[in-house]
Amino acid sequence: MSQIYLRPHHALCIQFFEGKGYSEAFVSHMSAVIGVLQSDDPAVTLHSGCDMLCEKCPHNAGGVCETDDKVRAIDERALALLGLSVGDTLRWNELSARAYDRIIGCSKLSEVCRDCQWLTICKK
Ligand code: SF4
Repeated sequence: MSQIYLRPHHALCIQFFEGKGYSEAFVSHMSAVIGVLQSDDPAVTLHSGCDMLCEKCPHNAGGVCETDDKVRAIDERALALLGLSVGDTLRWNELSARAYDRIIGCSKLSEVCRDCQWLTICKK
C-alpha cells in the first residue's frame, strides 16, 4: 500500500471498528486498511477531505463526503485535541496513541464525535 492519507477523526473510528459500516465493500476495505496499519505501522499523513477509508464509502460523492460539514467539524475538534495539523505525517502507532491519550482515554470522545451516527458503538 502506498502513502496512507487519513482524515483526522478516522484515527478514532479505526480504534473502535467492529465490522460495521456503510456497506459490505466499505467494511471489507476498512478491514484491509486497518490490517496494514496494525501490521506495518506505516507513516500516515493527515488529510482534509476524503481519504483512503472514504474510497469505498457510498457517501463519497466524487471525492466529497455527502455530510462534509458535519465530518469536517469532527475533524477540526479531533485535530485541536490531538495537537496536530492537516499535512502532518507520523507513524500510525504514534497517531493511535495520541488519539487514545488525548481524546479516548480522557473521556472526550462524546465531545469530539457528537453528531456521529456511530458514536454509540464507540462508547460501549
Ligand atoms: S461518511 Fe464521509 S467521511 Fe465518513 S467514510 Fe464516508 S465519505 Fe468518508
